[in-house]
Amino acid sequence: MTATERMQKARDARNHNRVSSILDNQIHNKNQLSTLKRVLTAAPRYAGVFRKAYSGKSKMAALKSKCLECSNLQRIEVAECQVGGCPLWQYRPYQHNAAGQTPAARTGE
Ligand code: SF4
Repeated sequence: MTATERMQKARDARNHNRVSSILDNQIHNKNQLSTLKRVLTAAPRYAGVFRKAYSGKSKMAALKSKCLECSNLQRIEVAECQVGGCPLWQYRPYQHNAAGQTPAARTGE
């Protein structure tokens, strides 16, 4: 296991512990609880985004969560989403990398 993988595993464990305590104390909606448990199992790194969205305090977290949920928790799928008819499409997260390039620009398409 590489150092990066170990760091990601530690981050995932921290997220899991933090969100687990929140599950017990703050999430009372059954659908939200079910989704959050699925996120914790499949992609714990995104649990914080979902928790923030469910708190009702961040529209950006709500948008990220919706797109991640729609794309089976795959960030690259959100970035390369082709569903231009979706009302969220122009606002979807992960479109640009740090250099401001879109996925198409990065691959030269
Ligand atoms: S923009 Fe794409 S990924 Fe986001 S909700 Fe719409 S269809 Fe799903």
